[in-house]
Amino acid sequence: MSFDTIVVVDWSARGAPSPAKPAADAIWIGVARDGAVTCHYHRTRAAATAALAALFEAERAAGRRVLAGFDFPFAYPAGFARALTGADDPLAVWAALSERIADAPDNRNNRFEVAAGLNGLFPGIGPFWGCPAGFDDPRLPQKGTARHGHGLPERRGCEARIGAAQPCWKLYTTGSVGSQALLGLPRLQALRDRFGTDLAVRPFETRDAPIVLVELFPSLIAGAVADLADPGEIRDRAQVRVLAGALAALDPGDLDRMTREGDAEEGWILGLGHEAALAAAARRAAPAAAPVLPPRLRDDCFAMPQGVDWVPVDDALARLRDGLHPVTGTERLTTAAAAGRVLAEDVPARRSNPPRPNAAVDGYGFAHAATGAGVQRLPLVPGRAAAGQPHPGAVPAGQAIRILTGAILPDGVDTVVLEEDTALDGGTVVFDGPVKPFANTRKAGEDVAEGALALPAGHRLRAPDLALLSALGIAEVTARRPLRVAVLSTGDEIVDTPATPALPHQIWDANRPMLLALARGWGCAAVDLGHAPDDAARIARRLDAGARRADVILTSGGASAGDEDHVSALLRRRGKLTSWRIAVKPGRPLALALWRGVPVFGLPGNPVAALVCALVFARPALSLMAGAGWAEPRRFTVPAAFSKRKKPGRREYLRARLTPEGAAEVFGSEGSGRISGLSWATGLVELPDGAVEVTPGGPVAYIPYSAFGLV
Ligand code: AMP
Ligand code: MG
Repeated sequence: MSFDTIVVVDWSARGAPSPAKPAADAIWIGVARDGAVTCHYHRTRAAATAALAALFEAERAAGRRVLAGFDFPFAYPAGFARALTGADDPLAVWAALSERIADAPDNRNNRFEVAAGLNGLFPGIGPFWGCPAGFDDPRLPQKGTARHGHGLPERRGCEARIGAAQPCWKLYTTGSVGSQALLGLPRLQALRDRFGTDLAVRPFETRDAPIVLVELFPSLIAGAVADLADPGEIRDRAQVRVLAGALAALDPGDLDRMTREGDAEEGWILGLGHEAALAAAARRAAPAAAPVLPPRLRDDCFAMPQGVDWVPVDDALARLRDGLHPVTGTERLTTAAAAGRVLAEDVPARRSNPPRPNAAVDGYGFAHAATGAGVQRLPLVPGRAAAGQPHPGAVPAGQAIRILTGAILPDGVDTVVLEEDTALDGGTVVFDGPVKPFANTRKAGEDVAEGALALPAGHRLRAPDLALLSALGIAEVTARRPLRVAVLSTGDEIVDTPATPALPHQIWDANRPMLLALARGWGCAAVDLGHAPDDAARIARRLDAGARRADVILTSGGASAGDEDHVSALLRRRGKLTSWRIAVKPGRPLALALWRGVPVFGLPGNPVAALVCALVFARPALSLMAGAGWAEPRRFTVPAAFSKRKKPGRREYLRARLTPEGAAEVFGSEGSGRISGLSWATGLVELPDGAVEVTPGGPVAYIPYSAFGLV
């Protein structure tokens, strides 16, 4: 079953109407319909719900199916529903909340009172927490750390898979999704009441209803949203717009299946595990950027011929990204041998870290419940608990035990007082109370819980990751085989190696050692195809060898359109040349082609241009092919230590490095033959496609070599 209309709602828990002028932290609704996405701003939950109901009515009347997604949890961690309603049914929770929540047309509401009352159903303190300073009910603590003993998990299974998800118990300050759920679920229940069996809530209800509600989490495609947001666009608006477009661009069968994934008790975040497909759909849905028109420049060596389609950098990148996919096989490796490798599968934790509660300091452990305010005197039990030497017996309430950092808390101990805060009086430890419950202890699984996602597929393992995997008991991983990257230099003037003498008209091959080293630094297996003169047959033979021995080929030289540009001529004739003439300086001649099914990056011959094109175009593409996903370098905005006026029409990269004050200075010459500038630099300054006037102190985008994975 497919959907005709996709609705994405960014909900808000504000206690007063949002500003009249569209703002962040309000309700935004994106509607994808008939190939277009519209965005709507609502100042109150009541207004938004009325608008949704009207939209659902109209679509149902027109016989069109609607998928509506909301960015708050549809269910609570396992156990909550039963405690509240007597059944493990999340929809019973919706009804129960509807009875308790009062949410006025002006957004005033009683969510903190309701949460305090819900906490009253559980032992200890919690699970809900967070409230404004004036709210005074001991059942609802201001701090999450004040909770204990309520017995419910902190997160749902699906949330444990996403680092950025906020727990649904948190009601106040940043990202307090808990309040959004308390105020959102009753509104959805009202829609359920109104539309009856014409509305199904996934994954709990599986019927093919005309209106289907799902839970969403826009941060699943945060990268695509950031890339596709319009300049100055409010983030919430960009999120609903891009996500609605993405869902509409998915294959209808895939989308329908995604709505049915997940857990009948804890619910599910639609698209979890399909982030790459969602992001790709978002990019497919994005309207093509306005073409960059070739401007009339002076007739200098960089003039762009009129009437020629210059491909903007972003278009070229988007094309690469869409056209390529991972090509490397997998193998099992010991964790210790897997540094630099790309994970082929998600890795869940085999055991919690820490596996058991333990002491975070050297000191004395005891049961908190038996202590209070004022001077505390606890007789010490014999023996001690140390890391690797657990104490076998229990510690009776009112007594204490010597305990050292890393030791498992013996039975009866939940709190540790720091050694420096104590005195010993014979066999008794003396300290000032009150001590906070659980002080100086680490909870079992507080770092990573058993079964939680430790590292995702596509992650390239670095030294700290080996520490994490080992700590979680992962002895072996399934990793991608390294991508094989072949490198070929071309040109009659090129001499293979500086170990061979060069005549005055000859130059030593500078690109090949550079590109081979780059590929190795990116974790690829480098294949040296040597050098071919400007002769089509000989270049073709080398390309054949490359296609046999490698997954991708990088060539340099001969990529322009001139008489001696044999690489581009050959690729055009026999190699499905797909794209070239990219609006970038340095490096305009860039050939992207397939040779016997193997992608070829025909890089320019100038070493400066070859490096820039390798970093900007080849690196993200190779990363994608290697299974590590598209690698976007991180840009840093820094003050310029130079002036430059740039005309519109192409993106420019300048060799740059940071001054001691952190400003970007650029190499004295922009000449693309100036190899010394590459070595002088520690990164590149990126100037945008449009016109720009850089003045000292003004902001520029600086990309350190390290952000290109250049080691
Ligand atoms: P091409 O792209 O073949 O027109 O070459 C542009 C410039 O780069 C020419 O000055 C070439 O001599 C130079 N060049 C081409 N390949 C290399 C290389 N492998 N090492 C150093 N310079 C090169
Ligand atoms: Mg040449």
